[in-house]
Amino acid sequence: MSEISLEFPDGSKRQFEAGASAKDVAQSIAISLAKKAVAGKLDGKLINLNAPINHDGKIEIVTKDSEDGLAVLRSTVALLAKVSLKEIFSDIRFGEDSGDEEGLYIDTDKDDGQVSADDLEAISTKIQSFVDKKVDLKHESVSKAEALKKLAGTKFEAQLVEDSEDDSFDFYNVDGVDVLNNGVAFENAGDVKFFRLLSVAGAYFEGKSSNDMLQRIYGTAFYKQADLDADLKARQEARERDHRVIGNDLDLFFVDPKAGAGLPYWMPNGATIRRTIERYIIDKEVADDYKHVYTPVLANLDLYKTSGHWAHYRDDMFPPMDMGDGEMLELRPMNCPSHIQIYNHHIRSYRELPLRIAELGMMHRYEKSGALSGLQRVREMTLNDGHTFVTLDQVQDEFKKILTLIMDVYNDFNITDYTFRLSYRDPANTAKYFDDDEMWNRSQSMLKGAMDDLGLDYYEAEGEAAFYGPKLDIQTKTALGNDETMSTIQLDFMLPEQFDLSYIGADGEKHRPVMIHRGIVGTMERFIAYLTEIYKGAFPTWLAPKQVTIIPVSDDKHGDYAESLRKKFAAADVRVDVDHRGEKMNYLIRDAQTHKIPYTLVVGDQEKANNEVSVRKYGEQDSNSMSADAFLSEVLGDIENYSRA
Ligand code: ATP
Ligand code: ZN
Repeated sequence: MSEISLEFPDGSKRQFEAGASAKDVAQSIAISLAKKAVAGKLDGKLINLNAPINHDGKIEIVTKDSEDGLAVLRSTVALLAKVSLKEIFSDIRFGEDSGDEEGLYIDTDKDDGQVSADDLEAISTKIQSFVDKKVDLKHESVSKAEALKKLAGTKFEAQLVEDSEDDSFDFYNVDGVDVLNNGVAFENAGDVKFFRLLSVAGAYFEGKSSNDMLQRIYGTAFYKQADLDADLKARQEARERDHRVIGNDLDLFFVDPKAGAGLPYWMPNGATIRRTIERYIIDKEVADDYKHVYTPVLANLDLYKTSGHWAHYRDDMFPPMDMGDGEMLELRPMNCPSHIQIYNHHIRSYRELPLRIAELGMMHRYEKSGALSGLQRVREMTLNDGHTFVTLDQVQDEFKKILTLIMDVYNDFNITDYTFRLSYRDPANTAKYFDDDEMWNRSQSMLKGAMDDLGLDYYEAEGEAAFYGPKLDIQTKTALGNDETMSTIQLDFMLPEQFDLSYIGADGEKHRPVMIHRGIVGTMERFIAYLTEIYKGAFPTWLAPKQVTIIPVSDDKHGDYAESLRKKFAAADVRVDVDHRGEKMNYLIRDAQTHKIPYTLVVGDQEKANNEVSVRKYGEQDSNSMSADAFLSEVLGDIENYSRA
């Protein structure tokens, strides 16, 4: 018998007989390790615990308490789900499947309607029966040619094998049923512990929108009940905060792939929130000496050739429109070249600097269809964009001014969980950056100085700057714990060069300005997705699409009084309506709560007689009576102070 040499993660090497498995290797180290082992990893690739190893390589033992260990468990559940689906539906077809640290899924297709959420219980029961019976999962690796033979007539699976660069494919025989499985699975179904099938949703085959829409079944699995419970709780929390779910419940927006994937439609409620934010931010910026402009979403492609976007960012751009007369028009992916046109329209003097140009600029990016998500990642978006043109000397003050504006805005939106990341060029590799040492050194120390002056904590990231200049990113935490860049301030030495920007200095000579790109709240789309999540749809009064609803105890007797209040409040710019549906009062009150309306007013005999209202705030059980005028000033105070109801 020949020998093979296996290297362990700590660098040590040992000889084994050719054909030894990961299990043999684990056993040779410690019985306790062998007990926890669920698979091996050979040269970075997961392998079955009992698969023979026939060549030298790097070996790792995959145990239950690792991410790979979870992946093996989840792949096993995906495998059992496929077998179960085959037994339940004779016409089932499979697309991709996966089990990893996120969870598991199986893509399916049927002739006779798709698998639905109602089927999940039957599928789970079937999976559990394999687990209870401790069915063997007989593994076999076959060549591409053999795999294609086994999968003849399967449409999607055969295509996947065809498109794959691998030459070895894993099949498992379970209870006499042969299935292809993408991951590595256990040897026996009895090792599966706690699993749950969660939901179904459409997914394009291989993630391409030109392909068939399949039905994806989602699920998850754990080794411990407590871990499964915690995960289900986190998923429930995520669902309660999911801006797509809330956006639908509160009728804020929708995206219909038939009308255009990633192209959102803002319903009146969502549009009201957006309009309120847009007016707010424009007013803030105008007060901060920004000049607001409007520039076209389309421009000659040459503009993006000059800016460098066409060379470096083309994959994210919509293809140019050939107008047939030699003109090529491009949907802009960024607004910077547009604002440069505004700057360059006049000869600029040093007296005009800093010159601040801002716009709610609509832009288009061709995001991959698989990455699109509600308003969070779209293909048409409107950025709260601004570009300041300054002399190098003015960088520090301008940076402070922008930062102060950002924090002021965060305060108004009650955004408290954020951190600063200051990005410099890599001192060990200055060659890959814009070539002007003085610009870099001075501007980097000005940014740092500004942060210190303002007494802010920040993280310094060497080598994270853009190649055209240093930047500050402000990272927020979403309610689900993900980091997201909300605001950014970026210095740019390069675009002024590309577009030959200049100003006339006090010396009467031409000089080159520095450009600062800055976004305060980012795109309206992503910002509103974020707010929806942090507020759980309960928008503070100033943003709420409907701020007050008035419910007459009897529409016949108190409807007129309610109407008179509505007119009075509406005249003071409060978004208010009267619920004339005449349904049971408790139902109407509950409905107002479901729609997260900050104030629900109930008016009956007593209120009408005394010119009062009975007020119930969102999320509270009690109501209290006050005069209509006192209530109006309370609401107006809330709106003015951006506060919650
Ligand atoms: P990402 O890395 O998320 O694609 P980016 O770094 O390309 O973003 P920038 O070019 O800095 O983003 O864009 C400015 C702003 O636009 C950021 O606030 C970002 O959150 C937002 N944004 C970028 N792409 C999208 C999108 N597809 N949908 C919605 N907002 C977006
Ligand atoms: Zn810009």
